[in-house]
Amino acid sequence: MMEIKQAILAADRINRPGIDNPCQYITIHNTGNFKAGAHAAAHAAWLQTVNELVSWHYTVDDMEIYQHLPDDETAYHAGDGSGDGNRKSIAIEICVNADGNLLAATENAARLAARLCRKHNISLENIVQHHHWSGKNCPAQLRGNEPYSWEMFLSKVAAELQELPKAWALQAADWSIAQNIIRGDGMSYNWQQPVSREELAVILYRFKNSLFFTEKL
Ligand SMILES: [Zn+2]
Repeated sequence: MMEIKQAILAADRINRPGIDNPCQYITIHNTGNFKAGAHAAAHAAWLQTVNELVSWHYTVDDMEIYQHLPDDETAYHAGDGSGDGNRKSIAIEICVNADGNLLAATENAARLAARLCRKHNISLENIVQHHHWSGKNCPAQLRGNEPYSWEMFLSKVAAELQELPKAWALQAADWSIAQNIIRGDGMSYNWQQPVSREELAVILYRFKNSLFFTEKL
């Protein structure tokens, strides 16, 4: 899982209502912004200044993920007023910028959605399209089978969920990555695979060398 860059809106922003979100759903959007440079960082900057009731939790492009609001706060993205879309879901916007790679952006969104499912115990059936809440043709690309179908997107999330640490291990897994104690093979961390004795030796050796351990000494 790539780093999630934090660009949390200031508490007094008009587009940060600060209402509790029970995190029962994940809502998927495509940004609809095809301009070159309309990537995740650009949307993060825009949300900081826009004076409208528009906001969401994450923007994902082919390279980066930005978070704009805490998961457990509501946002204005679903077009359903005070309905369950705005009030009970975590919103992910997938970038469609002309200078980006839609396939890679969508794959990143599937990984993020899986992680949020695991973290908040959200079922696959509760990953929904913006369309589900308001009838808008969004996520327009996924609804038009770009880069693949909605069903394929959900199957990617399901596959990623198989691979992810269980909820009880998630914090420890994040810590071990941050400490550089557990490293992936570039594609995967193989969380559900057994550890060989040589791998265990390397893990212990990295632990000995980790900042955490030396500080305690
Ligand atoms: Zn949308």
